[in-house]
This record gives sequence, structure tokens and C-alpha cells, in this order.
Amino acid sequence: MHDMSIASQILGLKKREFSSLELTRHYLGRIERLNPILNALITVTEEQALESAKRADEMLSGNIDNELCGIPLVHKDIFCTRGVKTSCGSKMLHNFVPPYDATVVENLAQAGTVMLGKANMDEFAMGSSNETSFYGPVKNPWDITRVPGGSSGGSAAAVAARMTPAATATDTGGSIRQPAALCGVTGLKPTYGLVSRWGMIAFASSLDQGGPIARTAEDCAILLNTMASYDHRDSTSLKFQEKDYRDEINRSISGCRIGIPREYFSNSLSPSVEATVFKALRVLTDLGAILVDISLPNTKLSVPAYYVIAPAEASANLARFDGIRFGHRCENPQSLEDLYCRTRAEGFGEEVQRRILIGTYCLSAGYHDAYYKKAQQVRHLIKQDFTEAFSKVDVVASPTCPAPAFKFGEKSDDPVKMYLEDIYTIATNLAGLPGMSIPCGFVDRNPIGLQLIGNYLQEARILNIAHCIQKETDWHNSAPKEPS
Ligand code: GLN
Repeated sequence: MHDMSIASQILGLKKREFSSLELTRHYLGRIERLNPILNALITVTEEQALESAKRADEMLSGNIDNELCGIPLVHKDIFCTRGVKTSCGSKMLHNFVPPYDATVVENLAQAGTVMLGKANMDEFAMGSSNETSFYGPVKNPWDITRVPGGSSGGSAAAVAARMTPAATATDTGGSIRQPAALCGVTGLKPTYGLVSRWGMIAFASSLDQGGPIARTAEDCAILLNTMASYDHRDSTSLKFQEKDYRDEINRSISGCRIGIPREYFSNSLSPSVEATVFKALRVLTDLGAILVDISLPNTKLSVPAYYVIAPAEASANLARFDGIRFGHRCENPQSLEDLYCRTRAEGFGEEVQRRILIGTYCLSAGYHDAYYKKAQQVRHLIKQDFTEAFSKVDVVASPTCPAPAFKFGEKSDDPVKMYLEDIYTIATNLAGLPGMSIPCGFVDRNPIGLQLIGNYLQEARILNIAHCIQKETDWHNSAPKEPS
């Protein structure tokens, strides 16, 4: 059952080939066996899952209105779940049990999905390797000596290891696409505002966006149908025309113009990754798509701009963790200042503290114009690059990451090296555009991702292209050998 896509599990449930309870028990068994090795989940909600599966089976015997009814999944531990610990990968929230569900969780629960547990992640979603998690790093199921990517490493690893058919995730600068690439699964970051941020613990509010990680583009489309919703509780939520993201998935891509940004195929890209990506692009040209050379001239400014804007927003968002209202509190505070200082020094890890310091510095009087304002101007230029590109092409294609998964410890001592991991994904967030990563082959048995970037609200278009590749190839069906 665990080798089936969600689309086929939906059919299996409908035809009564198995029940949701059987499906859920099957995945719980795999979690029990594999989680001690991979550390992909922080919390397993076994009892709750069995209860929800029974309820889903009852719903399935009547007339259900959502096809996801009975499908198990995992939520990234950044999404608030009522009555279930939501740690955001941090010691700061090790004891936080939210009294409410995030909108994404609520939408998926109402559809009848079954939550298996909460996925491990980099602390407060800051990182590209899962090494900043308070709960220890997630291992990449393809090679447990390598990182799964981050920050949604737990979500991607759990899907790759078939511990769940799908997982929710979030992407502020690449955190859905980069781990999806390194774990050989499919991940979609929607247009900013399409998926509600309500109840999703804030990192950098103008960049954060939730989305699905699954095995196939079709499964991502099915999940997006339920995850996307206008939400009055999120002031940046988009009022969009609802649609079925699966409708256009089989559309012909003949004549489709695919932009190849020359800046994304530069010296920093490993030649074997480049060759692998071009092999996947050949599948598209064989189907009649046309590759067009384009330029995104401000690409090199995206990482520096992001590392001013994201920490600036993070420093403001994380101010709420003060030992009074949420989570961790230090022992025996001597004064209010002592309470703040020790709580935050104990509760936050090194990377989070680094970002708070950078962000506070960039926003301080005297430096605001030099750093924050400048970064916002650069952000505008990056947006313009894409506007210009989309006047010539339908989608943009590139590698998701410059190289395959790296070894633990390889980049953790050098923040700048780690930050450059997102060199191809960050511009998409700065512009607010939808992007996805799909498996496109292997280098030395490590998965490689192809990134597809669409124009605003063109999720259906990139899903369509991804699906066309997946109909012709088998990369997305390869599974890692079971780690032991
Ligand atoms: N790796 C990037 C960072 O550390 C992006 C993280 C994310 O998308 N949440 O900020």
C-alpha cells in the first residue's frame, strides 16, 4: 500500500480494497520501524490517528464530499494542532500545546484526512539541513549519513521513506523545494497568499507559504485543492477563483515556452547536476515544449536581500517568545530582564539567535535605510526580473539546488555556505511566485530536483508540466532501500 500514490489510494478506498483504518495501521507500523532510524517525526499521534481513521471509514460508507477522506498524512511541526504539541523544532516550544488548529490543519481535518504525527524541522524553519532542530537532525532515507534538506526535512524524509503518503510543509526561502529535491519527492510552494498562514508559526511573514510534499505532482494538486482557501483570519490571504488543480494536469505542453535562466546554470552548479537537469528538460522538448534562454540578472542579489529581510521579520515575529505567554520559561528569574534574557538564551538555538541579532541590527535606527530599505529595493528588482521573464515564457525551469544532499556537519560551521544552498529557490519567495521541485534523476545514487517556477497563481501550469514529465519517466517512483 505504501508504494501507491494518493490518487491510487483514493481509488482503493473507494473500491473497498482496503479501509482507512488498514491504511493508517500500515503507515503507523512503518513509522514505528523507521522513525527511530530517520527521526522524521517529533510526535506520533497513534491513538488520534486510529480514531480519525475509524471516523473516516464511517464517512466513506456514506456520501463523502472530499476525495482525501481517509488518507493519512503528517503535518510539519510548525502548524498548530489542537491538543497536540507543536514545537516548531525548538526548545522554546517544547511544552506548547495549541488550543486551536491552523487553517491548513483544519481544512485537511474537515476533509477527513488522518494525522499520523508531526514532522521534525529546522528550529523555527531556519536552516537547510535539519541540523538546527532541537530534536536532533532528520536522516536522509537515501543515505543516512546525509542531510534531508530543510527546513521541511522531516516532511520530505517521511514521504520518501513511505512513512506517510504526504506531508504539509512550509517554504520561506526554499524549505519545501530543497528538501523535496534532496529526498527525491515532489513539493509545491504556492503563490504567496494562496494557502492561509493562520496558525502557522511565523518566521518571515512576507515570505512564508505553506504547501504540500507528496510523491507525485498529481498528489500535490489533490492536496492543494483542500489546502488553498481564502481566510479572513490571515490579512495576506488571497481572494482567488477556486478551481480544481487537477483539471489541467493532462493538458498538452506542446508549444509551451520554458525559460532557462542563464544565471542559474553558472559556476556554482555541479556539472553532474546540470547534466541530470538537462536530461529531464529533454523529456519536455520531446513533448513539444520549447526551451528559451532568459536572464534573471539580479539573481546574485537574492541571497543577500533575503538574509536581511527574513531575519528582520523573524526578529519581530520571535519577540513574542518571552517566557510569559508561550513555551519555555527559565527557572527562578531575578527580574523581568533576567526572565527575558535567560528564557531566550536557553530556549533558542544558535542559528535562531544569530538571525534575531542580524534582524534587530538591520532594523535599528541608523541602519534601517542602509540594510532593510536597500534589501526591499533589491526585492523589487528581483520581482521585475520575473515580470520581464514571464512576458517571454510560460514557466521557468532550473535545478532546485546546486548539488545533491551533503553530509552532516559539512556546512554547519559555515552559515554562508549553508545559506547558498537556497541560491535557486529564494528569488521565488522574494517575488511571491509559485514554485515546485520534482525528482529528475540521481547523481551517485542521490536524488536531484528539477525546479519549475510559474507566474502568479499559475500553479495549475507548473503542475501540468510536472505531471507530463512524471507520466513519461519513473524517477518519482524510485524508493530508497529501507534503512536498517
Ligand atoms: N534555508 C532558508 C533559511 O534558512 C529557508 C528556510 C525556509 O524556507 N523556511 O532561512
